[in-house]
Amino acid sequence: MTITRFAPSPTGYIHVGNLRTALMNYLIARKAGGQFILRLDDTDPERSKQEYADAIQQDLEWLGLTWDRLEKQSDRLERYEAAAQELRDMGRFYEAFETPTELDLKRKKQLNMGKPPVYDRAALNLSEDEKAKLRAERGNGVWRFKLDHERIEWTDGILGDLSIDAASVSDPVLIRGDGQFLYTLASVCDDVDYGVTHVVRGSDHVTNTATQIQIIRALGGTVPEFAHHSLLTGSQGEALSKRLGTLALRDLREAGVQPAALLSLMARLGSSQPVELVGSLDELAEGFDINSFGSAPTKFDADDLYPLTARYLGGLTVADVGAELDALGVPADEAEAFWTVARENITTLKDLGAWWELCQSGADPLVADEDADFIAEAMTLLPDGPYDASSWGDWTSAVKAATGRKGKGLFMPLRKAVTGMERGPDMSALMPLLKVIRAKG
Ligand code: GLU
Repeated sequence: MTITRFAPSPTGYIHVGNLRTALMNYLIARKAGGQFILRLDDTDPERSKQEYADAIQQDLEWLGLTWDRLEKQSDRLERYEAAAQELRDMGRFYEAFETPTELDLKRKKQLNMGKPPVYDRAALNLSEDEKAKLRAERGNGVWRFKLDHERIEWTDGILGDLSIDAASVSDPVLIRGDGQFLYTLASVCDDVDYGVTHVVRGSDHVTNTATQIQIIRALGGTVPEFAHHSLLTGSQGEALSKRLGTLALRDLREAGVQPAALLSLMARLGSSQPVELVGSLDELAEGFDINSFGSAPTKFDADDLYPLTARYLGGLTVADVGAELDALGVPADEAEAFWTVARENITTLKDLGAWWELCQSGADPLVADEDADFIAEAMTLLPDGPYDASSWGDWTSAVKAATGRKGKGLFMPLRKAVTGMERGPDMSALMPLLKVIRAKG
């Protein structure tokens, strides 16, 4: 069975970059009729917060990305300790005591000599006495996994055939001096134990993958299929990492972006398939192909979410937006007519209020100086409300007969006087909704 997982750390709100990872894993599982696991990587007790764990779940639920299983790394510390012991027993795990400053110095020296800044394994030469002495002076050391110096190879679902020389990578620290298990080990234990078959994550994890493949093998697990998607950049290609904080899913929701828009964009962006509004997650899953994604950085522009949101809203029926119309106080007998007009003229549901306000209280008329006399005359011809479907036609015919104006010169000044805008709904459909036309005086 295909099993995938999305593994955020609950140290902040999730953003569009995280969503891309979540969605790809979700769609792979759904397409295959498999399982999607939500795993909270919360081994860092300082930075992990329940508030963020809750928020991540709310955000995924909002998008309809439901999980079949929820796991927390903080529940599994015993398992990680057992794995650590296994690695110790097989001679693949060693304690090292260098301070960050010492490591920094080593790196600088290596770089000065034109060598890659790879940990030199000095700790492997420490005797038990030396280690005891360092432990007494500095506290517990970190635990590093001893890589086999061979090439680590895999066929990546997006990047193709990869080959990484393990000797070019530092032996990864899996346990910190304070005993905290690091993600690199915890993730391997979880992926192996939960039978994860496919891991899609950002290309910033490629080196992790190389080391994790060796750890998985050391622990006797099966190596999943890996795919590393490119990272998002801003629309000009600029790094997005700093701005991602402002692209949190909850902020986009707050701004009125619809789930369908976000899902449609993020499931296709950076792939050879066109971005189009897709009706359901099932439909997205059906057409999803991880191999269609390219390795080049993917440009993301939040503005692209709004036309998709507008298109989605344009396809909704009055029943779909009953709650929003109720909240505005739209009476049931006007709801259908109001929604039919409004849905073509909004970008997000937040725009509905302004349209309802216009229907109730009228708009500030927009009248050009050269049209002032024309509008004054036209307003004398405007009958009193309530207006109906023929009001606009009757009125404009009367104005045309009286003034001789026709076409755009007739309709545009009237539209502007009535709605305060140059563009907007079909006026015949709008008129019956208007209680007040302020230009009438
Ligand atoms: N918690 C890790 C992260 O958010 C998970 C990476 C992975 O998918 O393995 O970067």
